[in-house]
Amino acid sequence: MSLIACARAIATGAQTATAVTERALSRIVAAEPHLNAMVHVDSDGALAQAARVDAAMAAGGPLGPLAGVPLTIKDLIAVAGLPLTAGSKMLAGYVPARDASVIVRLRDAGAVILGKTSLDEFAMGSTNETAVTGPARNPWDLGRVPGGSSGGSAVAVAAGYGYGSLGTDTGGSVRLPAALCGLVGLKPTYGRVSRSGVVAYASSFDQVGPMATTVRDAARLLAVIAGPCGEDATSRLEAVADYEAACDLPARGLRVGVVRSWLEGLTTETHDAVLSTQRRLEAAGAVTVEVTLPHAHLAVPAYYLIAMSEASANLARYDGVRFGHRAALEPDDDLDTLYARSRAEGFGAEVKRRIIMGTWALSSGYYEAYYDRACRVRRLIHGDLEAALRQCDVILGPTAPSTAWPLGSHTHDPVAAYQMDIYTTVANLAGLPAMSVPVGLSAGGLPLAIQLMAGAFDEATLLRCAASVERDAPALPSAPIALARALSGGV
Ligand code: GLN
Repeated sequence: MSLIACARAIATGAQTATAVTERALSRIVAAEPHLNAMVHVDSDGALAQAARVDAAMAAGGPLGPLAGVPLTIKDLIAVAGLPLTAGSKMLAGYVPARDASVIVRLRDAGAVILGKTSLDEFAMGSTNETAVTGPARNPWDLGRVPGGSSGGSAVAVAAGYGYGSLGTDTGGSVRLPAALCGLVGLKPTYGRVSRSGVVAYASSFDQVGPMATTVRDAARLLAVIAGPCGEDATSRLEAVADYEAACDLPARGLRVGVVRSWLEGLTTETHDAVLSTQRRLEAAGAVTVEVTLPHAHLAVPAYYLIAMSEASANLARYDGVRFGHRAALEPDDDLDTLYARSRAEGFGAEVKRRIIMGTWALSSGYYEAYYDRACRVRRLIHGDLEAALRQCDVILGPTAPSTAWPLGSHTHDPVAAYQMDIYTTVANLAGLPAMSVPVGLSAGGLPLAIQLMAGAFDEATLLRCAASVERDAPALPSAPIALARALSGGV
């Protein structure tokens, strides 16, 4: 059942919110030993919220667009009363007193929050393997990564722990795990969705985005969370379009940009997935336009230099005094020792690597050579996209170079892991909306995906094109086969 179908079943009285929530919770109990996607499950809170929806329904009261729909939330986003770890030992024991703005909006829409999902530490990663709770597993093949950093959210939705999730996307963390787990994942335009109450990684990129099983489900989640917010100075005033209505518009007349150079370096199946999507869009009446992004090959180094620089500044607050884990001290230890020991104990290896690199890139003598140059490359990439989007309405390409890869493949080669973000980071560098859409399974039974990008604040066109891709692409099985086999005790 899709999120929309679930909301309809509750609104028409065909199902109670309590029954739907109980089913999601028992799914978590059954599948979690195989998947490790949740860092906190709030059964009591979820059932209490479901009971409120059922009471409102019985009283004939107005129901919100997500009334009774169970969702999960990436553990980088504050939910009042639930632990917030950011996937790190640094924040162990922290329980926020207030909801993030996006959570306030979900609650106002009637959503039921099942709990928090696993992520790469401080959202730094592409595989979910740097999570302090250990990696989540891809439900399509338990020996493979689910993608990251919002890997737990992707696994949760793919495994049926509720009907959608919120992730965050700094360099691809909503789209990549969505692609690897057979889901729809949407990164909104920078400023479209409030970040108040979201732990900062790289502030000039971070955006919250929905993950769901259908395009229309993602449209509904986006419509609920999008819009101006007085608590986030980067939030923008642009009007929120009718995203669900956009899903009904035909692709006829859309100009779809394709980037030839993006078809090199893909596995054969991913390459064919992009080409067959292009052909199906043409058959639906879209027009293909060839566009070039001359600087896109520089996206990964530019993104990582800027992301690490911003992370080094954002994570300076975790000093063991104002925020974060505090190390035990000996009587003679001084303040510097407190800082150093607290940070040494609290942060994992990948986070430390990025703080060191970012601090170095910002230091005097290196700033011009690295950070400043990366910012100039960012402006060139932004210019490339603006020029391309004058010739077309959406850009079609891959989300990732391949389908999900085996756990542990990049443990000793961080740069190889960073390369997996080659197609996603361009949208973050330019602040543009982008989404990943599933387009069937590979011969090995792993989800295939394509990526779409559109102009700033044009999520409606993105969804319109995505809905057409979804209508015409081979459908995925309703549940991942590997997970079904594991749950029935097979291998
Ligand atoms: N993989 C990228 C990184 O590690 C993106 C992460 C994200 O979007 N949060 O920085």
